[in-house]
Amino acid sequence: FKRLELVDSSEDELMEMGDTFNRMIDLLESNYKKQEQFVSNASHELKTPLTVIEGYANLLKRKGLDRPDLFRESIDAIHSEAIRMKEMTERLLLLARDREKWHVDWELLDLLEIAEESAKAFRNAYGRDVYTETEESVIGYADKNLLRQLLFIFLDNARKYSDEPIVIQVGHSHAVGWIRIIDRGIGIPFEDIPKVFDRFYRVDPARSRKSGGAGLGLSLAKEIADAIGARIDLESREGVGTTVTVSLRETRV
Ligand code: ADP
Repeated sequence: FKRLELVDSSEDELMEMGDTFNRMIDLLESNYKKQEQFVSNASHELKTPLTVIEGYANLLKRKGLDRPDLFRESIDAIHSEAIRMKEMTERLLLLARDREKWHVDWELLDLLEIAEESAKAFRNAYGRDVYTETEESVIGYADKNLLRQLLFIFLDNARKYSDEPIVIQVGHSHAVGWIRIIDRGIGIPFEDIPKVFDRFYRVDPARSRKSGGAGLGLSLAKEIADAIGARIDLESREGVGTTVTVSLRETRV
């Protein structure tokens, strides 16, 4: 990209045009760099599980037939790394897609019902204690599928970064319905809170990787929330836990 060299000229309009042109070049350049960074980060993240899979496949090839213990370990590792890659690829595909292409099916939803369904699905999938604390039904306006995906991301983080039961609350303030997910886990250090919504950002990459994270969950959550006009508030204290509140659009339709 080449910027224009502006020589001091008496033509104000010309100077202004030159300035606008240079600002456009800066914007293009920064978008290009972001794109480049995204591709490079994505390739790096995908390479890690592939390397593990390759290592175990090699081990199986050499010793798999005579060592049943190695056989089991290798299959388990290959399986879990493949799941991790699949989830990461799905998230990357969603993040790379144009926002305009997201299909949003607006409808009035019973938020308590959605929270209970999500809790049940999560209990069944991970055997983790997740319960809803609210009994009152609240109506919200959103896309059911996208809202479920959003809740799944927060529940998944609560599962990865805490061992205690996870609580879901549902409520409303005026015409705005909200769903809140509370964990009593490791929490997020104060200075990291503004950064956790950035793509590929992890507070502790080693720990996060072990639990299967590539730092994509919250950035995808932000995209989904934008698509359904929801707001995300994250409060967290290191060593105490994390609370995420998803507030939906006003329910006046
Ligand atoms: P990841 O897939 O690595 O969990 P996310 O984008 O979902 O990526 O989250 C970014 C980082 O924020 C995580 O790596 C983790 O350090 C931190 N984080 C997110 N949610 C929680 C939580 N509930 N408790 C503690 N730390 C969290």
